[in-house]
Amino acid sequence: MKERVIPSQSGAAFLLKRGQILKVIDPEGQQVSDLFCVSANDRNEWFSAGRSIDYNDTIYLTEGHTLYSNRSSPMLKWSKDTCGRHDALMTPCSLKMFQIVAGNREYHPSCDENLAKNLAQYDISPDRIGTTLNLFMNVHTAPETGKLSIHPPRSKPGDYVELEALMDLVVGLTACSHEETNAGKCKPIRYQIA
Ligand SMILES: [Zn+2]
Repeated sequence: MKERVIPSQSGAAFLLKRGQILKVIDPEGQQVSDLFCVSANDRNEWFSAGRSIDYNDTIYLTEGHTLYSNRSSPMLKWSKDTCGRHDALMTPCSLKMFQIVAGNREYHPSCDENLAKNLAQYDISPDRIGTTLNLFMNVHTAPETGKLSIHPPRSKPGDYVELEALMDLVVGLTACSHEETNAGKCKPIRYQIA
C-alpha cells in the first residue's frame, strides 16, 4: 500500500486486519503520533495501556513487546522500532488539557479531538478513547518521586515503528497537536499498511 500522510495537527482512522503490519513514520523527526485501537468485531474491547505496561513489566514499550486489550487479549505485536522511546502513560492531548494544564482559554486542536472525529465513522464514541500509545513521545520519569516531564522526542527524520495486528482492529492515529511535546513545531506523520 502506498504511504499516506497525516497533515500537521490532524488524524486518521482505518481498519487493520489480523496479520497486517502498520508502519508509522516520523518523516521530519521529533514528531509524536498518538495511536488508539479498538477491536473491529467488538467496540467494547480496546487498547489498554495499563495492561500492556503490566504484562511487559515496563513503562517504555518498544520492539518485542505485545500490546494488550482491556480483556487481556493480544492486539498488536511490536515488530520494529528504530527510535526506541515512546510513552504509554499520558492521555492524548485534549482541549481540556490545554485549558487545565496550559491555562489556554482559546480553541486549540488536539489528538483527542482528532481521534474522536476520525473514529466516529466506525461508531466509536469519544468516551471510548482512553490512554493512547504515544509513539515517539519522550517522557522522563524521576526514580523516587515519579515526577513526569516531557522532553523533545528522540526520533530522527525517517525513524519508524512497525506493529503487527494480532486481531482485526480499528486504528486511530494522529500527528500530535501539542507544540511543546513536538520540540516547538507540529509536523506531519506518515503511515503504511502492508
Ligand atoms: Zn497530542
